[in-house]
Amino acid sequence: MTETRLLLGHAAAEALYGELRETLRTLPFVPSLRVLRLGEDPASVAYVRLKDKRARELGLKSAVEVYPHDLPEEALLERIAELNGDEGVDGILVQLPLPPHIRTERVLEAISPLKDVDGFHPVNVGRLWSGGEGLFPCTPLGVVRLLKHYGVELRGREVVVIGRSNIVGKPMAGLLLREDATVTLAHSRTQDLPQVARRAEVLVVAVGRPYLVRRDWVRPGAVVVDVGVNRVDGRLLGDVHPEVAEVASALTPVPGGVGPMTVAMLMANTVKAALLRRHGAFR
Ligand code: NAD
Repeated sequence: MTETRLLLGHAAAEALYGELRETLRTLPFVPSLRVLRLGEDPASVAYVRLKDKRARELGLKSAVEVYPHDLPEEALLERIAELNGDEGVDGILVQLPLPPHIRTERVLEAISPLKDVDGFHPVNVGRLWSGGEGLFPCTPLGVVRLLKHYGVELRGREVVVIGRSNIVGKPMAGLLLREDATVTLAHSRTQDLPQVARRAEVLVVAVGRPYLVRRDWVRPGAVVVDVGVNRVDGRLLGDVHPEVAEVASALTPVPGGVGPMTVAMLMANTVKAALLRRHGAFR
């Protein structure tokens, strides 16, 4: 039996960081990222710290603005408007989830599409689906980049994505279409999900349920990407059961698979935003 290949996020991310360093060397300016965080949700604190750290390590300008969890929505929108107009800021990211009194949609729509490094603004969502240039969500971008790094062909392949969130599943489907894959987008209402999953030559799982996907859901030889991050008894578990390694040809570990790629793509998006804004590629 051949061994299942592990698709390692850190290795693929390092390759991307190398490319970004090359690009940065050629630029007459330093791209800058601004992250806004409300409240002290421990996961958000940790994610924001990591983003800031990676940005600095890469040589970007990075700053984090921390606000109390009860910051009024209008105050947040005003700050975003200021940052939209700040020539010295290339990328703006408001860490999600936001407190319940704030309408997330309003906030995401307030960020200039040119600085929207999370790729959640409706203009960028539209550009993703219409085939144009834009800023696209980091996690699905990271999945595509990871698969390409390991030479996984997508063109014409049967790909099933499980999960239809705006952050992962839907943009994942859009990006895979752009790669000429044949895409099925499955979700909580899909009938006979295991059978649908078994169609996949490449299976991407982004649900948030520990070990949902079992061995018999996976077509022998399939490539399996586990986006899930579930904290169970202090451990991080994916959405894919480890027994899947017995049938898959390649699999992403959790942690160490998609996670590092998400952060790396945020850096790539910051550099891209800086270039798009200066060269007017959105015209
Ligand atoms: P979400 O809760 O917004 O969406 C989950 C999706 O899964 C929904 O579309 C729902 O239809 C579907 N779903 C729920 N239960 C299902 C079931 N039993 N069968 C089939 N589909 C089901 O979550 P999300 O933001 O898309 O995140 C999904 C997972 O990915 C989470 O574990 C999250 O922590 C993880 N995540 C990881 C990264 C990373 O960088 N590694 C980034 C974002 C999200």
